[in-house]
Amino acid sequence: MRRFHFPMVAEPAAEGALRGRVRAFLEREREIGGFVPGADCWVSRASPEFSRKLGREGWIGMTWPKAYGGHGRPALDRFVVTEELLAAGAPVAAHWIADRQSAGQILRYGTEEQKLSILPQIASGECYFSVGMSEPQAGSDLAAIQTKATSTQGGWVLQGRKIWSTGAHIARYMIVLARTSPPEGRNRHVGLSQFLVELSRPGVDVSGIRDIAGAVHFNEVVFDGVELPADALLGAEGEGWAQCMGELAMERSGPERFLTTFIMLEAALDTIRDRISPIVLGDLIARLVALRAMSRGIALRLQNGEDPGTEAVIVKQLGNAFEKRLFSAIRDAIASKPETEIPADLLSLRDETQLRLPSHSLRGGTTEILRGVIARQLGAR
Ligand SMILES: Cc1cc2nc3c(=O)[nH]c(=O)nc-3n(C[C@H](O)[C@H](O)[C@H](O)COP(=O)(O)OP(=O)(O)OC[C@H]3O[C@@H](n4cnc5c(N)ncnc54)[C@H](O)[C@@H]3O)c2cc1C
Repeated sequence: MRRFHFPMVAEPAAEGALRGRVRAFLEREREIGGFVPGADCWVSRASPEFSRKLGREGWIGMTWPKAYGGHGRPALDRFVVTEELLAAGAPVAAHWIADRQSAGQILRYGTEEQKLSILPQIASGECYFSVGMSEPQAGSDLAAIQTKATSTQGGWVLQGRKIWSTGAHIARYMIVLARTSPPEGRNRHVGLSQFLVELSRPGVDVSGIRDIAGAVHFNEVVFDGVELPADALLGAEGEGWAQCMGELAMERSGPERFLTTFIMLEAALDTIRDRISPIVLGDLIARLVALRAMSRGIALRLQNGEDPGTEAVIVKQLGNAFEKRLFSAIRDAIASKPETEIPADLLSLRDETQLRLPSHSLRGGTTEILRGVIARQLGAR
């Protein structure tokens, strides 16, 4: 029986033309000082101005229907744009979550009014989202969340606390996972629902958390008796768990899971060429090519409406391991040279990446949890 499916996807000529346009745009932006390349750019580097420029180019919301401000293009065109942005270390964090997953949830589960009013704003690079899953006592064990939404006459009241919410300090909305009814015995996946919550509502408090590298990109968000309209319920009441799992497939499978530190390779290659073994380099490139092929296959499957949840987990798990391997190889090669021969920007890229790297295999699901998901699919647990 076939347990995992990664279709091979050819690269048509049109993709090359699009890639050329994106590269030319990025080069221009760098020349005019529009951005300084950085690692982990989709999490820690937000520039609303840059997001608006991408919106004007038509590079946000590429796959959605034109009726909702999108561009009706294939998922693989979006793949080309996202990998070029990541490889260039462009400041894409502001709109990343909205474009990657929140808009997909609204397209699938939102009301017509929500689609018409919110999606065009996302596509123009002006409206950002955050993900409200984790809580202080519920990360890997997501079904343990305590945040509650209680039904009232006109809608809902939200009470609880989310943590590590990337981008919530600049986001207009958060998609919140909350409990709407008690678990059924040991089945805690029932009774959970998703809500579309405007973070400007009374009773919402967003406070930034500084990461080890000194940047504020994630937050703690408290909901204290927040009143929500009836249509804040996203999708069906009680279906929140299944909806979240679909969202995570979009979150885990993209090129950000293996290109977050790629910029270091570009920046280091001239300096370390004589210090890195061709075998190590070849091994890294072989892994990168394989990951890219797997990720493109998933992009196609998502476009076809399939559910490649476990395949997405595999890409994230292997992608995290690849990024660690890439970083170690470059760090060791740098260390074998006198520090005076290493450009200052490469040293600061190394230091920042060293601090952030451990978080790559936490966010979006930890290594142990992802391995457990793969094992379950194989019937090993
Ligand atoms: C940079 C960053 C950005 C994030 N952004 C968001 C966001 O936008 N929205 C959001 O909702 N969350 C976000 N998160 C939170 C992230 O999803 C959680 O950190 C992750 O799910 C792990 O949960 P935890 O931190 O509570 O760790 P825990 O679940 O407490 O895990 C701690 C350790 O125990 C291990 N462990 C736990 N359970 C088991 C088990 N059953 N078997 C074996 N080992 C186990 C884990 O693998 C891990 O090594 C972000 C995290 C980071 C680091």
